[in-house]
Amino acid sequence: KQADIAVIGMAVMGRNLALNMAEKGFTVAIYNRTVERVDEVIAEAGPLAERLIPCRALEHLRDLVKPARPILMMVKAGPAVDETIETLAPHLDAGDILIDAGNANFRDTVRREKHVRSLGLQFLGIGVSGGEEGARHGPSIMSGGAREAYDRIAPVLTAISARFQGTPCSAYMGPDGAGHFVKTIHNGIEYADMQMIAEIYGLLRYGHGLAPAAIADVFERWSSGPLDSYLIEITARALRATDAETGGPLVDVIVDSAGQKGTGRWSAIEALDLGVPASAIVAAVDARGISALRALRAKIVARFGAEPASRGTATDAVIADYEKALIGGKILAYAQGFSVLNAASAEHKWNLPLAEVARIWRAGCIIRSAFLDRIAAAYDRTADLETILLDPGLSDLMADCLPAMRKVVGEAALEGRPLPALSAGLAYLHALAQARTTADLTQAQRDIFGAHGFERTDKPGSFHGAW
Ligand code: NDP
Repeated sequence: KQADIAVIGMAVMGRNLALNMAEKGFTVAIYNRTVERVDEVIAEAGPLAERLIPCRALEHLRDLVKPARPILMMVKAGPAVDETIETLAPHLDAGDILIDAGNANFRDTVRREKHVRSLGLQFLGIGVSGGEEGARHGPSIMSGGAREAYDRIAPVLTAISARFQGTPCSAYMGPDGAGHFVKTIHNGIEYADMQMIAEIYGLLRYGHGLAPAAIADVFERWSSGPLDSYLIEITARALRATDAETGGPLVDVIVDSAGQKGTGRWSAIEALDLGVPASAIVAAVDARGISALRALRAKIVARFGAEPASRGTATDAVIADYEKALIGGKILAYAQGFSVLNAASAEHKWNLPLAEVARIWRAGCIIRSAFLDRIAAAYDRTADLETILLDPGLSDLMADCLPAMRKVVGEAALEGRPLPALSAGLAYLHALAQARTTADLTQAQRDIFGAHGFERTDKPGSFHGAW
């Protein structure tokens, strides 16, 4: 019996993907560098073990998988992927397909795709989102690479992916690094979405003095409105949890210093490189960075950390404003994320299917939400939409949220409360909405110190001032 596909890397993600595939009826050869893991997985797989074929040495994979062999690597991102490719490639036949399903930087994927193709093999870089639960029961899958290679494994990916109202959340994004790029921007948007939620939590918690459980109630209510999403749902769950040791809210015993693995930062770097504003995403990455500067924060608190006055009761009207501020912030974060995708698509000639991107994010992944339906609809209406802010439906929603967002951000600034991502999103909109920017002055300054020249409003050409 030969396997339909192989999975290399039996840590939490690879193991769960392999079990997911077995559950959908595929036979899967499994391998892990530390070989004992393979037997552990089979021992714990229950009835699914029937569809798992243990592989104890990479050179055996060739005999264990049906050609053209799809081999999915789910190993630690970085050099482990290159090492696996180098060890495995000599034991494969032309046309076999190596798939990197880890969180690769798309630039590495572009490089690996070229290299693997030069060896006569095929290479796919696929972004998998949804954490371990997603991997086991249905992730969102963003694939990049040669179309023929994708078509060969599409049935497996489609079968294991999440479903949104019956539609699989798996799709072909484009050549080489397209899939990993889309996954990177997914994570950038995830950072912004999470940060904005945390900012509103901060107002309710420290501005109004609401207990975490009461804030959980607020988020739970929002779950049945436009904000309905996985992140809002887990926010309510996180705030409701109590600590077994202290009996108090669990959030209160968690150190306020956020970690990051790099994909949010990659989003920011790529946006800057492309010259596309992604200020809300950048602010969210920075907010994690600032949270990690605990020693410095302690010193700055001593000098500038005056406790603002209480915001009083969180009335229904106040909470309604917070909901609108969060919806507005969300629209702006997605507007930035999709603008980065749009620009990257043109730059790398990927022809990214943006409606499809929004559709496959509706279930399975961390930013899954009903809101993405609106974005998919916007790109369905206008495939070459410049920004979702110009879609009639989304721009109406943004306009409706704008007064509340201004009020919330403005008052917070006056009180000295930080709303970095919401403020950055709002400033982005305000900056885009200027009929005349102040870049006239910038151009004048540049001409004075660097003779860079400027264009005139009244005639064509390049000019210098007689400064
Ligand atoms: P890890 O990122 O912790 O990687 C561990 C796996 O990589 C083990 O199977 C390990 O083998 C193998 N490995 C490490 N170094 C090498 C090497 N030099 N050669 C061969 N194999 C090696 O596992 P995860 O399951 O958490 O993640 C896998 C990938 O999925 C990563 O790219 C991650 O970023 C991505 N991802 C993770 C998510 C998550 O929620 N965890 C979500 C989405 C994507 P050994 O047992 O021998 O050490």
